[in-house]
Amino acid sequence: MSSDEQNIVVSPAPEFPAADIRWMEYAISLAAKGEALGEVPVGAVIVKDGAILGEGFNQPITANDPTAHAEIVALRQAANHIRNYRLIDSTIYVTLEPCTMCVGALVHARIARLVFGTTEPKAGAVVSKSQLLDNDYFNHRVDYSNGLLASRCQHQLSEFFALRRAQKRKEKLAGRE
Ligand SMILES: [Zn+2]
Repeated sequence: MSSDEQNIVVSPAPEFPAADIRWMEYAISLAAKGEALGEVPVGAVIVKDGAILGEGFNQPITANDPTAHAEIVALRQAANHIRNYRLIDSTIYVTLEPCTMCVGALVHARIARLVFGTTEPKAGAVVSKSQLLDNDYFNHRVDYSNGLLASRCQHQLSEFFALRRAQKRKEKLAGRE
């Protein structure tokens, strides 16, 4: 590590209150649970009035469910928990920018606020590939902000993919012997 790198102070963007930081840290810990199962590490937690309504991590492979993204898993748990499919006044914290499916689900659930960590340049549907929540044809508005603990969320994902690539190389080499 160069001295320049050591001097970089990684601090969250100032507009995020301490509670937001704590919840995103929690979402990162959920993502790690998915990672332990071999899933792409993405975590999500839904919070209302300081309490958890639902939580989840990405698990399409283990659940044999193409819709089992962290957000969907958390939404299902939260709605089940409060016995209402509308999650009024709640905030969802996700480590990664939601995809098209998840953005749609957040609108259906009437989530008030979305906070995500890192962007998803290839398929992100909030700020990257498309800006679905900026459309006016939805009957519900979800406030969103991003960049909270972004480098930690990004690092968790890139480490996972780097490990997986290394593993695949190893398997390929072993196959040649
Ligand atoms: Zn998704």
